[in-house]
Amino acid sequence: MMKLVLNLKLKAMVKHTCPKHPRYSPDRTGQGGIVGGCAECGEMYSLYMQKLHLEAAVREFEDKAACLSKEGHSKSTTAA
Ligand SMILES: [Zn+2]
Repeated sequence: MMKLVLNLKLKAMVKHTCPKHPRYSPDRTGQGGIVGGCAECGEMYSLYMQKLHLEAAVREFEDKAACLSKEGHSKSTTAA
């Protein structure tokens, strides 16, 4: 039997400021706001985007899984 168990333990608060560009903020300034291809700002942007993607992927999967289990067999109702 195939089964997916994902226990994401992510309650991390990441706070970081680029010393060269203290006003840079990935959510507000975006990729276009990275000055001179700064690697540190780039890393901040990259982490921010990966966070968004992970959140979106989990939500998307939950939606799909909800549809699939409605269509198919709905006998495994052991929610944690
Ligand atoms: Zn920077």
